[in-house]
Amino acid sequence: MNASKDIVVPPVKKTTSAVASIPITSMDDVFAKIKVGTKVSVLWDDGIIYEATVEAHHKTITANIQIIFTNDGCHSIVKMSNQSIKGYGIVGIVSDGSATKSTKRLHDEAASLEASSTSVFSKSSSKSQKKKKKKTTASTTQSTTTTTTTSIWPGSGSNWIPTHTNWGTRSKNNFGCGKCRWRPKGCRGCIASAESYVAATPLMVRGMIQFPIPLLKDYNERKELLTTVLLPRFDIINGPQQCSNGYGIIVSSAGGRPFLQGECIIDSSVVYMQRPAAYGKAHLGEYDYVALGSSISASSGYFQLRELALGHCALSYYVNEARNGQMPNAEFSTVRTGGSFEPKFCLRALVDICPGEELLVHYNNSTA
Ligand SMILES: [Zn+2]
Repeated sequence: MNASKDIVVPPVKKTTSAVASIPITSMDDVFAKIKVGTKVSVLWDDGIIYEATVEAHHKTITANIQIIFTNDGCHSIVKMSNQSIKGYGIVGIVSDGSATKSTKRLHDEAASLEASSTSVFSKSSSKSQKKKKKKTTASTTQSTTTTTTTSIWPGSGSNWIPTHTNWGTRSKNNFGCGKCRWRPKGCRGCIASAESYVAATPLMVRGMIQFPIPLLKDYNERKELLTTVLLPRFDIINGPQQCSNGYGIIVSSAGGRPFLQGECIIDSSVVYMQRPAAYGKAHLGEYDYVALGSSISASSGYFQLRELALGHCALSYYVNEARNGQMPNAEFSTVRTGGSFEPKFCLRALVDICPGEELLVHYNNSTA
């Protein structure tokens, strides 16, 4: 062992005691070597170690350290791991740039989506909505459409074709299904199945936020975040400076609080899709998706801002682009918080934005 080498703490399983296997002294050493730009190993609470780069200066070993993940450009704030109360944080320094990472999550996203009802949000009308719309609860006579989503992919020259579950909007000459991992080129099954597919056309209300149908399993949390975090800060307005016949997002005047430079607010109405960004590009409109990371060909997934066939429209969809020489004052970004490795879409202020001012981003279909 060469004591002068950078320390790389071996992967630590979440179930084992990270504290016990990483003596405080070595964490001090690791911490002492961390500067802005240093590549570090970050143990997440999924038990996997990821590589990230330190983004901002830090003063003490117990301070929050701003990092950006290497594989997808997602931002996060962590502590040194054995100081962390949340079970995730920096556990070492990446010495050769090729160290840790891993991606092993391929949930079947079709998994547990519940059945549905439309939900439409807008701040302006939320009060008046309170007393009405109890409608849907009454008739839950939904015939349980537990389609026999075959347990195994049938093999050997069968005529198997996938169901259209969660297909949503599809463009003419592109395909994709769970079996072929949503590659737009598709497979024999989904190409055949596409012939009989007709996308739904739910009611879309312009200028409103709508969650997709069927509702997401974390719908209640998203709705809560939307009404308590996002809508108090932003207003959807008609006829902003950019585009006199469209919509835009302004910092709420009612709150009287500016959107401060560097501040990051999660848009819980945006949905992360575990499908390659190429799928989003192939099937959705130009402003309806944003790739995670820097490349739309990456397999890392994309954020869905609007999905016409699923009746989905996020607040961020209404954010306009800086044009005609205007400087963007905000950006689409991603953050990762504890509890899940799934990235979250957020709006980040590049400068202080006063109440009443419109958010303008540089739009390029990616978050990096
Ligand atoms: Zn397919």
